[in-house]
Amino acid sequence: TATIAGYDPELASAIASEVARQEDHVELIASENYTSVPVMEAQGSQLTNKYAEGYPGKRYYGGCEFVDIAERLAIDRLKQLYDCNYANVQPHSGSQANQAVFLALLQPGDTILGMSLAHGGHLTHGAKVNVSGKLFNAIQYGVDEQGLLDYDEIERLALEHKPKMIVAGFSAYSQVMDWARFRAIADKVGAWLFVDMAHVAGLIAAGVYPSPLEHAHVVTSTTHKTLRGPRGGVILARGAGEEIEKKLQSVVFPGIQGGPLMHVIAAKAVAFKEALEPAFRDYQVQVVKNAKAMARTFADRGYKIVSGGTENHLMLIDLIGREVTGKEAEAALGKAHITVNKNAVPGDPRSPFVTSGLRIGTPAVTTRGYKEADVTELASWICDVLDAPADEAVQARVREQVTAQCRRFPVYG
Ligand code: PLP
Repeated sequence: TATIAGYDPELASAIASEVARQEDHVELIASENYTSVPVMEAQGSQLTNKYAEGYPGKRYYGGCEFVDIAERLAIDRLKQLYDCNYANVQPHSGSQANQAVFLALLQPGDTILGMSLAHGGHLTHGAKVNVSGKLFNAIQYGVDEQGLLDYDEIERLALEHKPKMIVAGFSAYSQVMDWARFRAIADKVGAWLFVDMAHVAGLIAAGVYPSPLEHAHVVTSTTHKTLRGPRGGVILARGAGEEIEKKLQSVVFPGIQGGPLMHVIAAKAVAFKEALEPAFRDYQVQVVKNAKAMARTFADRGYKIVSGGTENHLMLIDLIGREVTGKEAEAALGKAHITVNKNAVPGDPRSPFVTSGLRIGTPAVTTRGYKEADVTELASWICDVLDAPADEAVQARVREQVTAQCRRFPVYG
């Protein structure tokens, strides 16, 4: 029963520093959020001790009667949340959920058509460095000069390359994806439509962003972004049919995973219960309002937003043609205790390690309680830093302002 601090002070100190960083820095990484205390309680529970290979009621180990309850709760709540009839809550991560879908529906060497990483897609949508780009013949689509998806071009690519699967979904796109149009294109060439809704899963659960479930054959998500649960992945489908559901089940286990992380699945169950509450909808509405308020401030200060604005929780600031790079901007803001990530923007002349863009998202600050006035203030400080990225006096002044603002909005109190 030793505590971490008593047994391992070196590690305890790292954890304490991270807890303090989360309280004292403002978090604008679009894929991050703060889970609730009950979610962390479930994840830190004794369920971590349990082996439960298999699925509820069909396990390869004894003593699974209580973890079965936890997994069934997670499955039932997830189905309710997205109004679907198939859910697998075992994928350890979003990447593993995506791998499972590929392996269930495709053969190695098949052609897939996904959004390129450089234009806002995810690594697992066919990037050359990822297994999705190595195992499959990955063709990539992107955005036009306005930063918008060009569906006619996607259709042209589909007709030319005849993919077995079209992957929709994104990590850095601030507009609404037209799921119905993607499905129409997929149907035209006889492809599966697979939607990875990881970034907007919380917005979709709350009904503030269109659901892909009526259009896609299969949907995956992470549970830790806008959905505000523990780190992990899920697979969903509505009306996919028994054959596909069986394949998905067997690819996750025993195909690519062994024992499920029952403590994480319990934490997912808590998060899904939270997402079913009316307050979750209010939260997601505020996430989008805050993103729009920040985008307006950046535009007013002369910073270009890719695609001209945002309809979700994130935006990309386009720094092409400016002296400051994405990498320098990230570092300068870091000194002011503002955490963002550099991000390639469409047509980026700089390397992926340097980039000419910043990705900014509002899920975490909105969980803290920030409203439009607070994020507008914050966005103007970000512009102050970006206007003079080498000016340490500006960074110090903004750091003080950020610290005072963070104290007004404690994360865990
Ligand atoms: N899919 C999308 C769209 C993502 O943005 C991400 C993570 O950034 C993932 C999948 C991968 O999730 P994980 O980091 O849990 O593997």
